Amino acid sequence: MQNNLIQKFFESKKTEATELLSDLIRFPSLSGTGEAEIQDFLADKFTALGLSVKKELLPETIKEHPAYSAAAQELDYRSRPNLYASLPSENKESVILCAHSDVVPAADWPDAFQPKVEGDRVIGRGAADDKGHLVTIYFALLALKELKLKSKKNVEVQAVIEEEVGGNGALAAIISGHKADGVIVLESTDLTICPANRGAVWYRIEVTGKPVHMGRIREGVNAIEKMAEIIKELRRYEEKLIAESDHPLFREYQQPVQVNVGIIKGGDWPSTVAGWAEMEGGVGFLPNKRLEQVQEELRALLANFPDTWIKEHSRISFPKLRNDAYETPVNDPIVTDLAKAVGLSGLTPKVTGFIVSCDARLYNRVGKMPTVVFGAGSIRDAHSRGESISITEVLKASEVLTNYLIT
Ligand SMILES: [Zn+2]
Repeated sequence: MQNNLIQKFFESKKTEATELLSDLIRFPSLSGTGEAEIQDFLADKFTALGLSVKKELLPETIKEHPAYSAAAQELDYRSRPNLYASLPSENKESVILCAHSDVVPAADWPDAFQPKVEGDRVIGRGAADDKGHLVTIYFALLALKELKLKSKKNVEVQAVIEEEVGGNGALAAIISGHKADGVIVLESTDLTICPANRGAVWYRIEVTGKPVHMGRIREGVNAIEKMAEIIKELRRYEEKLIAESDHPLFREYQQPVQVNVGIIKGGDWPSTVAGWAEMEGGVGFLPNKRLEQVQEELRALLANFPDTWIKEHSRISFPKLRNDAYETPVNDPIVTDLAKAVGLSGLTPKVTGFIVSCDARLYNRVGKMPTVVFGAGSIRDAHSRGESISITEVLKASEVLTNYLIT
C-alpha cells in the first residue's frame, strides 16, 4: 500500500523535477570559481523542506592536506561554501547523501547552460554530472515530507563544491568532522550500486640524453630512444598489473586497469641527437592496490631499469591527478540496505565496481566511512556535449532513496 503511494507520488512529480533540474542547469557553477550562487539557491530549497541548513566555507588549511587536489589556477575559498542540510531521526543510524554542485566547462557547447527538454530527458551541462542527482536527493526528501513518512536514519545532505577539481569540497566535509554510518555518493551509475572504485594516477617521466650533432651520432645518447625503451617496459608493467588485478566487482569490464601514454615531447633539432624527452600518462588500478603502491612500483621500474643510462638519467614524479581506489565490503549495511531499497522500488539490484573516480574514495579512504556510488543516468553523458538525463530515472533513484530511508 505504502509502496504504491510512494510510486504514485514520484509519477506525479515529473514536471516539477524537470523544472528544478532546469533551474539548477541555469547556474554556470564552474568548478573552482562559480559555485556560490547555486549553493544559495539549494540552501533555500532544503530550508523550505524543513531541513536545518548550514553553509561552511572550506578552510584555507585544506591546501596542506595530502589528499588536496591542486588546480591549474590558485583556488580561493572566500565565497564558495559547501552546503549541509540535516534531517534528524529518532534512531541512531546515520547516512550522508552527497552530490556535487560544480560542473566542468562547456567551451564547445554555447548553450550548455540553457536547459532543453526533449521528451523525458533534460539536456544541459550538469544534467547527469551531477545536478540531476541533487534533484534525486531533493525529491526523496520531499516525498518524506509530503507523504508524512519518517526517516529511520539521520540524514545529512552534502552539496559539495570542487568535485571536478579532484574532490576538495568532500575533503573539507570530511576533515571538518562530518561523519555517518554510511555515505551514498550520487553519480550516474545506471542505478547500479557501486561499492568500489577504480583508482587513477598520472605520472610524468623525464629522461636526459647526450645531445651531439647527428654526424657524431655514436657519441651521443638519444633521450627519445631511451623513452621508447621505457614505454616498452611500461607495457610489461601493464601486463603485470592486469595479471594481478582480478577482482569480482570489476570482472564485467574488458580491461579495468591500464597504463596509458598520453603526452610525449622531446628534442630540439632534426639533426641533433635528442638531449631530453618528457612523457606524461596515466595508470588505472583496482582496489587490490593502494595509490602509494602503484607509485612505488613505477619508481622501482626506473630505479631497476636494465639500461644503466636510463637508471641514472631518468626521473618520475606524480604532480597532477592522484585518485586512490577504494572498496566497501559488499555485506556492509550501506550496500545490503540500499540493495533492499532498489528491490522495493521494483528493480533488480545490481552491485558492481565503478571505473570513474569521484568523491567516494575520499569518504572511504580519508573519512573511513562505508561508501557506495549510486544514481540515475549514464556516466557516458558526463562531461559530454549534449549531456542529458532521464527525469523518470532521476525520480526512480529518489524512490530508491526514500525506500532506503524509511526501512
Ligand atoms: Zn560527478
